[in-house]
Amino acid sequence: DLATTLDPERAHALDRAHVFHSWSAQAALDPMVITRAEGSRVWDGQGREYLDFSSQLVFTNLGHQHPRVVAAIQEQAARLCTVAPAFANGTRSEAARLVASHTPGDLDHVFFTNGGADANEHAIRMARLHTGRHKVLSTYRSYHGGTHLAVNVTGDPRRWPSDHASAGVVHFFGPFLYRSPFHATTEAEECQRALEHLEQVVAFEGPGTIAAVVLEGIPGTAGVMVPPRDYLAGVREICDRYGIVMIADEVMSGFGRSGRWFGVDHASGGAGVVPDLLTFAKGVNSGYVPLGGVAISDAIFATFAHDRYPGGLTYSGHPLACAAAVATIRTMEDDDVVGRAAALGDDVLGPGLRALAERHPWVGEVRGTGAFWAVELVRDRATKEPLAPAGGSSPEMAAVLGGCKERGLLPFTTDHRIHVVPPLTTTPDEARAGLRILDEALTAAHAAA
Ligand code: PLP
Repeated sequence: DLATTLDPERAHALDRAHVFHSWSAQAALDPMVITRAEGSRVWDGQGREYLDFSSQLVFTNLGHQHPRVVAAIQEQAARLCTVAPAFANGTRSEAARLVASHTPGDLDHVFFTNGGADANEHAIRMARLHTGRHKVLSTYRSYHGGTHLAVNVTGDPRRWPSDHASAGVVHFFGPFLYRSPFHATTEAEECQRALEHLEQVVAFEGPGTIAAVVLEGIPGTAGVMVPPRDYLAGVREICDRYGIVMIADEVMSGFGRSGRWFGVDHASGGAGVVPDLLTFAKGVNSGYVPLGGVAISDAIFATFAHDRYPGGLTYSGHPLACAAAVATIRTMEDDDVVGRAAALGDDVLGPGLRALAERHPWVGEVRGTGAFWAVELVRDRATKEPLAPAGGSSPEMAAVLGGCKERGLLPFTTDHRIHVVPPLTTTPDEARAGLRILDEALTAAHAAA
């Protein structure tokens, strides 16, 4: 059945005729056809090879075509492709056990969804029913998904066309020292002022009206900002004081991306912070089959122990997706993939990107952890004017990107940033090769500007 789908020219032509793409003006699109992929490499329709520094959309945490994950999907497909959510299925049960074994604290109950946005939708619904309150607080510098509520919870400009007051979302500023909204000069000062700001937003919104605070464990698409040491513990304390549910969105930062299992595990100097609900997707199964979910604390689980939870999805806990999760998580355990991601950041990506920052006048800051890094590109280091506007591009950004692609590197870009987010299994040599290409692309684009 699939033989006719292998021709790259036909794939491109049919794409342009029939496929409507996300977040894009459709007329000008010229998508790269990917015909093959393995580990940290992909090949296009002309047979050109690229290093994938994007993990696609930051989800192929084990790289492409990992044999254990492929085999698990094939084995599950041959045995039992699908069952409805109401039945019990061994693969789903095992996936839930494995997720719960790595989520912090008592987040031991798992509701599976199809992806990250619906995980956040359900987490917020649970928080609203648990508290009997409606309002949700989230940060401006965030992305939480593309569905109605999730895109309203999102702070970045992708929210604007779908902004709706009825969503009941109020935004606040999280900590971000490089572009501090609080005029702070140290991480500690930024942390303290960001917490005072949140406290004030809670006070003025009315603590008794707020169901949840939603935060990414480490904000991802908005710029990979590892929170200051004590920030998440401070948010936890504010939530506890006012009976607000703390939701950690670990869709991008979870499952080893940061060099720990979850972004919240870095908090408080590595002691971690336990949210009430934790949402995940992407890396949970390396994105081989769509899967997301909500890990639920005992206290919130108790709310729905005898009262029915009013929500569900046809494909909640789909066996093919759960088979991919079982194989992914076991591979991560067996091969110390999280440790490898930490080492990749400590030994190669961190030092390499810092060296790049010293050489290139356009690099304002590099920051990150594990296999989760952002390179902030600015016109002028003193003014920090971004190299491209929020939600847009510029000839200079396009030149950097084009230069990477010409030289065989696929980076992840948003606005004026390049995110270095390769598979966690990327070898040090591959990572160094990718950094060299980025270095050359920056040099060439700067010289041409
Ligand atoms: N939350 C975060 C932090 C994300 O990065 C994303 C996607 O990039 C989402 C939620 C939405 O996930 P999905 O696209 O699977 O709905």
